Amino acid sequence: MNIVPFGDWTRRGRWWPTRALSKPAAAIVIHHSVTTPTSSPRADARKVEEVIYQRRWKSRFSMVAYNWMIHPDGTILEGRGPTYRNGANNNTRGGAISNHNSVSVCFIGDYRTTLLTEAQRRAFWWLAQDLERNGTVANSNSVMPHSALSKTTCPAEAYSSLGPPMFNGDAGEEDEEMVTCIDKLSGEAWVCSGTKARKINDVGQWMSTWEGPVRRANNMKFVIDDLYEIV
Ligand SMILES: [Zn+2]
Repeated sequence: MNIVPFGDWTRRGRWWPTRALSKPAAAIVIHHSVTTPTSSPRADARKVEEVIYQRRWKSRFSMVAYNWMIHPDGTILEGRGPTYRNGANNNTRGGAISNHNSVSVCFIGDYRTTLLTEAQRRAFWWLAQDLERNGTVANSNSVMPHSALSKTTCPAEAYSSLGPPMFNGDAGEEDEEMVTCIDKLSGEAWVCSGTKARKINDVGQWMSTWEGPVRRANNMKFVIDDLYEIV
């Protein structure tokens, strides 16, 4: 997977000085752009940048606020990237995670009305694992919604439809980890490995003996349907 460099899409560039990102970041914070996507990832990224640019005096943004953006077709576009400190994760609740120790990923689109695409989910987990490998973030599973930091509904369903990390073994790992995936709304559960999933009939009994990793999401049912072959 590739990342479109900042210079390949930006119109406004970096209009004010921006501080450096200190690594490794403690968390990846998820946002949505609340813009209407088209079939052009670069044009859509410029649209997000323009919204930020117009708000520069009020919010003191020095460039597009996000470290990365992900288009519905799975294209990852670099914003502040691994170089510049994030601008979108202001913590008004007073918690430990804020702009100085986190990075941000913005899903282009309005996730009050839609869910992430499979391409977006795959791109996100590829990016998260890549960031852990290259030391930009401490842990690719440390992912939280913008709403955990401040009083906002951002990123709406973009967080709950993110699903579990992908164990796609593209680093040459042969043994694929098994993970139990639970739908928090329906209570249904599956055991997943690689690209296959098996429905668990007695979830209570399964969980009483399962010692492996567990992923939970409100829309896990949707995630399983999209990403796994049911066996
Ligand atoms: Zn946000």
